[in-house]
Amino acid sequence: MDLDLGPEIARFRAGLRDWMAAHAPDGLAGLADWNTAVTAGGYRREELAAAMEHPAYAEWGRTLAAARLICPQWPQEYGGQGMDAVRAAVLNEELHRAGLPRVHRGMGESLVGPSVIVHGTPEQRARLLPRIISGDDVYCQGFSEPGHGSDLAAVETRGVVDGGEIVITGQKVWTSGAARATMMFLLCRTDPDAEKHAGLSYVLIPFTGPGVEYRPIRQMSGASEFCEDFLDGVRAPLSNVIGGLNNGWRVAMTTLGHERGGSATTAHLGFEREFWELAGTARKRGRAADPLVRQQLAAAYTGVQLMRFSGLRTLAEVAEGRPPGPEASVAKLFWSEYHKRLGEIAISIVGPDALLRPEGPGYPTSAWQNVFLSSRAGTIYSGTSEIQRNIIGERGLGLPKEPRAAG
Ligand SMILES: Cc1cc2nc3c(=O)[nH]c(=O)nc-3n(C[C@H](O)[C@H](O)[C@H](O)COP(=O)(O)OP(=O)(O)OC[C@H]3O[C@@H](n4cnc5c(N)ncnc54)[C@H](O)[C@@H]3O)c2cc1C
Repeated sequence: MDLDLGPEIARFRAGLRDWMAAHAPDGLAGLADWNTAVTAGGYRREELAAAMEHPAYAEWGRTLAAARLICPQWPQEYGGQGMDAVRAAVLNEELHRAGLPRVHRGMGESLVGPSVIVHGTPEQRARLLPRIISGDDVYCQGFSEPGHGSDLAAVETRGVVDGGEIVITGQKVWTSGAARATMMFLLCRTDPDAEKHAGLSYVLIPFTGPGVEYRPIRQMSGASEFCEDFLDGVRAPLSNVIGGLNNGWRVAMTTLGHERGGSATTAHLGFEREFWELAGTARKRGRAADPLVRQQLAAAYTGVQLMRFSGLRTLAEVAEGRPPGPEASVAKLFWSEYHKRLGEIAISIVGPDALLRPEGPGYPTSAWQNVFLSSRAGTIYSGTSEIQRNIIGERGLGLPKEPRAAG
């Protein structure tokens, strides 16, 4: 059931369906289960990576770019079409329905672009946004440091202005996709004497040149998707400081708002598919009649529907022109805790077999082992569950703030 968003949106939806039927390359929909792989924790990363090598994927990327559908919400002059949030959500739904990939430009699209649109100068928008859409700039996120994750405002990486450049020295950690990135967006301290939130700057640095070293970190799932990074005198033009010197905290908050709430209206789509796969696993393993399993699956299905309806509520609010509030934290808290529980249910359904790793080189894991392991990360990245609860309590419910430590 689609939310009734009026006849104009219904026409837009029908137009998209026709356009996709006419333009999607043959065979693309069957290459991978694109949407489950992307939204439900990436447990089919290898299948997805192989499908992305197929010529049909590249062709689809070119078709979407020509139709300005890679970053459709971005302004016309930077390669988007100024699409509103409701239409963008409908586009995502229709791609999902057709089994077609979204062709996403990673953190450049979901985090850097929206922050540059809000806080960048016209020159920065014109220079930086088209390079994200074209795929020339691939970003990773340099927020966390060895001593500062949740307490992001305490970052120690230094940024020193030298003529027309800013020179960055410090260490970052847990940097997802660093090995594939050509650029990093980071927070650094540019005024060590200012109050900790006030002395920070948000800078885009080249991530392939001199002074950059990164080392992969092996995860418990066997993958090495993130790195620790050592930045030693990395230079970027001052024109790569977004939002102005010492104003980085505001820009970072915009970035985190997008990171936490960006998929609120569509995340349930991938989780719903994943749920039905788990129901299928329960059937195949003869567990579907077990009352405890049925109860767990019913609770999981309820969780998916709650995500769906809360996504529709967010969409309805956007349609009425109300800006999203602490819903981003509510959505992030809910889906990440849900997914951790789903991983536990999956392992209990698979039973003792869940202890056996599949044969193969490296550290292979089965699909449900991977969901179980990788879902543990969801309640940590983009701010832990405790941090989301603090935000909901303090900013959403108006509860008193935790007392700040002296100094
Ligand atoms: C898969 C994955 C990918 C990541 N990718 C990136 C990335 O690309 N770029 C990047 O910069 N970072 C990335 N991170 C890092 C992530 O942002 C941090 O791990 C996270 O912010 C938590 O910081 P921390 O690990 O330093 O834990 P800490 O901040 O040390 O927290 C430890 C524990 O204390 C709790 N805690 C801390 N402060 C409070 C408080 N005020 N109130 C209540 N409880 C509190 C936390 O909830 C947690 O349970 C990634 C992490 C993961 C797991």
